[in-house]
Amino acid sequence: MSTVIYPSPIFGPIHSRRLGISLGINLMPSDGKVCSFDCIYCECGFNKDHIPHLKRPTREEVAKALKAKLIEMHEKGEHPDVLTFAGNGEPTGHPDFPEIINDTIKLRDKYCPKAKVSVLSNSTFINRPLVHAALMKVDNNILKLDTVDPEYIRMVDRPTSKNYHVNNIIEDLKSFYGHVIIQTMFMKGKVGDIDVDNTGDKFVKPWLKAIIDIQPREVMVYTIDRETPDKNLQKATHEELDRIKDMVQKEGILCTASY
Ligand code: SF4
Repeated sequence: MSTVIYPSPIFGPIHSRRLGISLGINLMPSDGKVCSFDCIYCECGFNKDHIPHLKRPTREEVAKALKAKLIEMHEKGEHPDVLTFAGNGEPTGHPDFPEIINDTIKLRDKYCPKAKVSVLSNSTFINRPLVHAALMKVDNNILKLDTVDPEYIRMVDRPTSKNYHVNNIIEDLKSFYGHVIIQTMFMKGKVGDIDVDNTGDKFVKPWLKAIIDIQPREVMVYTIDRETPDKNLQKATHEELDRIKDMVQKEGILCTASY
């Protein structure tokens, strides 16, 4: 296994642990990564190692490629369960993200009306009104909140902007009024000498308090699945994820775990 840079603007379909048969929509350049986080566990690698030379696909290029792929799949009798915005970085950072969501919903309605539209995002741009409005239109608005500990975020998620404040993000997550699925990475390991295990109560309890505050439709807890650019990280165990899942469910909030 190694880190992966996805083709752009369309990749797959792939079988996703969390989403089923997923056709990927990657709004980043096909030769590198563009993200407002630089997570030490990112399956695409570190930002500095994958600086792109190409541009992001345009709105028109995305619509054209998606339409062609949906027609191709339809002719083969294949049907995606989900159209997933993901790939080499943060999809909501694309300047035409709101318009691309509108185009995608129209194409979905025409060619695969049963498919869901999902967005996997790190939450950094959800305070932008047009991004927020676009995310309210998608079926699965899957937003990252790995922890509420600012120091841990600085070490593990590594936001590229100094203006990232987790308390503001929590307020923004609340403003979806339940139209949000929170995704949280649990893992173990070290950054230098510092332990980055977030599976214990020190991290889980304050995170759970934020989850209760946000009242999402669902929580997805997951762990490392591919090679990570930082080599000193390990998967959380089934038992650890199940314990966290049970804690969320005890609060009356649906929670799934991917091991
Ligand atoms: S937010 Fe996602 S794409 Fe961005 S660095 Fe983290 S894992 Fe990678």
